[in-house]
Amino acid sequence: MMYIEVLLELKNKHTDQTYTYKVPKSLEKQIYIGKRVKVPFNKRVLEGFILAVNMMPKEDIKILEIIEVVDEEIILNEELIKISEFIKDNTLCSMAAAIQVMLPKALKASYKTNINKKYQVNLVLNISYDSARKLCNSTKQKEIIDLINENNIFLKKEANLISSSSVNTLLKKQIIKEEEEEIYRLNEISVLTDQKKKLNEEQLNAFKSITNSLGEFKKYLIHGVTGSGKTEVYMQVIEEVINNNKTAIVLVPEISLTPQFVFNFKSRFGDDVALLHSALSDGERYDEWRKIARDEVKIVVGARSAIFAPLKNLGIIIIDEEHSDSYKQESTPRYNAIDIAEFRAEYNNIPVVLGSATPTLERMARASKNLYKLIELKKRINNASLPNCIIVDMAEEIKKGNYLLSERLQVEIESAISREEQIILLLNRRGFSTTITCSNCGFTYKCPNCDITLTYHKLKENLRCHYCGYTIFKKNNCPKCHEELNFYGYGTEKLEAEIKNIYPNLRVLRMDADTTRNKNGHEKIIEKFRNHEYDILVGTQMISKGLDFPMVSTVGIINADTTLNIPDFRSGEKTFDLLYQAAGRAGRSNTVGNVIIQTFNKDNFILKCVAEQDYEKFYNYEMNIRKKLKYPPYYYLISLKVTSKDYEMCSKEATKVYNYLRKNISEKSLVLGPTTANVFKVNNVYRFGIIIKYRFDDKIMPVLKELDKMFVINNKVNLEIDINPIQI
Ligand code: ADP
Ligand code: ZN
Repeated sequence: MMYIEVLLELKNKHTDQTYTYKVPKSLEKQIYIGKRVKVPFNKRVLEGFILAVNMMPKEDIKILEIIEVVDEEIILNEELIKISEFIKDNTLCSMAAAIQVMLPKALKASYKTNINKKYQVNLVLNISYDSARKLCNSTKQKEIIDLINENNIFLKKEANLISSSSVNTLLKKQIIKEEEEEIYRLNEISVLTDQKKKLNEEQLNAFKSITNSLGEFKKYLIHGVTGSGKTEVYMQVIEEVINNNKTAIVLVPEISLTPQFVFNFKSRFGDDVALLHSALSDGERYDEWRKIARDEVKIVVGARSAIFAPLKNLGIIIIDEEHSDSYKQESTPRYNAIDIAEFRAEYNNIPVVLGSATPTLERMARASKNLYKLIELKKRINNASLPNCIIVDMAEEIKKGNYLLSERLQVEIESAISREEQIILLLNRRGFSTTITCSNCGFTYKCPNCDITLTYHKLKENLRCHYCGYTIFKKNNCPKCHEELNFYGYGTEKLEAEIKNIYPNLRVLRMDADTTRNKNGHEKIIEKFRNHEYDILVGTQMISKGLDFPMVSTVGIINADTTLNIPDFRSGEKTFDLLYQAAGRAGRSNTVGNVIIQTFNKDNFILKCVAEQDYEKFYNYEMNIRKKLKYPPYYYLISLKVTSKDYEMCSKEATKVYNYLRKNISEKSLVLGPTTANVFKVNNVYRFGIIIKYRFDDKIMPVLKELDKMFVINNKVNLEIDINPIQI
């Protein structure tokens, strides 16, 4: 007798266990670990994954039989099951949640809609060609028979265009028959237009270093300045990998924001590449997934969840723009794709390569301890020079009545236009409506303990640090310049209007959430700007990523301060990343790049580092702060959020969590809070935050698991645990 252990998709966390079912003899041959089955459960029919097969039942209980096996193919191979265990252990989610997050909708257990395989109907001869010819009694019928005979595949659809009545007659007489063939929704044939480039010395060193360790687990960090040709290195390494009959995964922050990167891969590797991006329909995603699982592609390029691509024979994993927040999922399970990449690299004994012009401090620090092999690309391709950057004091400009465009920026715009070059203007909207900034002098309130911007709480009219709870009352006037305090903010639309007002003859294009809503919205804008149909591109941070426009000489940062004031200890790092990358759009080919940084904090050290395009300097400065204030990479962080609709209960439970932690984890670990969390009340749900800072504490994971368990059974108060959070 055959028994299987089935993991069911149940909403409740504490039912995260497998259930034993009996397999009827008739289904035994179809049973494999990793397939889905339909089973009876509490008078319902549920789907679940087979996680084990036994010849004896686990316990002596009444055991039901499964109803059917859902899949022909194995969905969860051994590696994917290992990955789901890794996710479960490292993010404290349920096994079911870990499995579901890895799969396209069509393959999740108990997903209700029908996303099916697509078929086409072909016609084939049922008897020999000669006999078929003899049995035809019209020229149309003969024509169809000839076409079937001449073509490898002949669609019924096409035959029907000739004569559907002839097709029916031939079918009825059994001269021909129908055959169903599975097809993929996305099946464009791409043209290979891209040739590999001769690597420069730095690129060649990178290439050699990585290809030397194919077949062993090794972690690389490529720190390459903007325009240093990282993509070309990735592509040539991958070529080597697929020549060895292995496969590759490449992660990018977001496909729609990196059309050029994707285009390069498609035109170099053609149909060997599968793209997994958010614009795919569920059916298309299902098809792409099957192509991958059936070894029909060699390279997968995609955003975060592409790290779960079921490629066999993996030879390398590459993660571009390693510093991007998008690699961390901000809902349960809160996994980080980079952790999964490193897990898979170790599992497969292969290298994993992370690349960035602005690596995270955590990773750079590890590279300096040789936990990553650091590769540096210090020069731009063709020795193009890094852009010149100028900092402009907006406090002075405002006195002259220039709120958006400083005098200097106007001069640079005009001079770029006279040379027929293009301009990018970045208006950073990632501001925080709950921080208060003086629009006259740029002053913001900061916590003296945690060095983060204080958050404004309307209800109580006070400003608070959401890390430690430090509180002051809001004043109506700026403590520095005594002007009236105001909420800071203007949009890209207003900037666009302002430019059109000053320069009625210039062609201005806007790229932000509004103008990119349509399918391929990003690509269209990028294409138009690249073709020089426009002079100025105005946009939010989405224009700062990996774009390569040879005719852009000038970049203006309209408001460099917004990210500086995000209430997060990483605000300095985020500012450096964004502005350094944005500046990197200027002067990538023959033009000399000019970058104008407009700010109310002209003496800010981070902005100086951006202006000097000096990552090293930024790194040393910021590391010093992190050390002093006990932030990563010196300390690890865990963020806990207690949420409830009931304020009293929420507050009480948060204090309990705090006390429990304080009592059970190491004395050396710090516990901050509970404080009313970042966004205090959303949709009538109250949130209290607690932060743990620790270095080495082997009690933490077991203690968190215990806490997690306690809250699973509490349906009034919820506990979210975020290990190594990106934002707290
Ligand atoms: P990064 O990602 O480091 O910012 P890219 O990979 O976008 O840089 O490369 C910048 C430009 O240089 C691209 O247009 C690319 O095609 C080109 N390029 C890269 N490597 C070479 C090379 N070895 N020779 C000539 N051009 C190159
Ligand atoms: Zn504080």
